[in-house]
Amino acid sequence: MAVIHLQKGPINCELLILFFIDFFVNLQPIEKQEMSSHQFSSSLLENAVHEFSKLPGIGRKTALRLVLHLLKQSEQEVEIFGNAFIQLRKEIQYCQSCHNISDTEICHLCSNPARDHQTVCVVENIKDVMSIENTQQFRGLYHVLGGIISPMDGIGPSDLEIESLILRVTTDHIKEIILALSTTMEGDTTNFYIFRKLAPLNIKITTIARGIAIGDELEYADEITLGRSILNRVEFTNSFK
Ligand SMILES: [Zn+2]
Repeated sequence: MAVIHLQKGPINCELLILFFIDFFVNLQPIEKQEMSSHQFSSSLLENAVHEFSKLPGIGRKTALRLVLHLLKQSEQEVEIFGNAFIQLRKEIQYCQSCHNISDTEICHLCSNPARDHQTVCVVENIKDVMSIENTQQFRGLYHVLGGIISPMDGIGPSDLEIESLILRVTTDHIKEIILALSTTMEGDTTNFYIFRKLAPLNIKITTIARGIAIGDELEYADEITLGRSILNRVEFTNSFK
């Protein structure tokens, strides 16, 4: 009787809803698990898909599409594709002067006599070098820090190419340092740290104009904005005002 009473009462609806919630909550992970651990008919295919899906932004579906596309190519084409990455990993170098990615000990920018060797633009990573080069507004050299100071991520000044920058300024007769880091709190902290380190060396220290919105990553800025920011750079000490 009690059961019949519950089925007829308002609790019945609650129980029903709870049952369905429980059913779907338990069901979803099983479905996801089945999809993610779906085995293909070939372990070779499974391996290839697994390796591709390790890449950023590539899920298993996309990985499968890419692998199946590669399977349609000739053996020689796939070999060329694979060798490009193996060769890249084995032979890539970082410029001993600016730490940009390079095929040689000194990169093509640092070894180019037509560039202004007395002006150095300090950037976070090699993607920023590419972004600024694309603007075609800068003819100086670069210094790639390899990151920015970020205590939250455990990155301190000693993890970055800051000491090599100081050394470069003193030995290479550099007249101007342009700080072109992202306009985030970490970028500003790094700017200030480098400014303090370079201040005794009596050189011009500038920072890119804030055409770049506060909080923007440099690599996402459009070329015109970034180009103007380089051209309209300001004295670092004025950038606080
Ligand atoms: Zn270089």
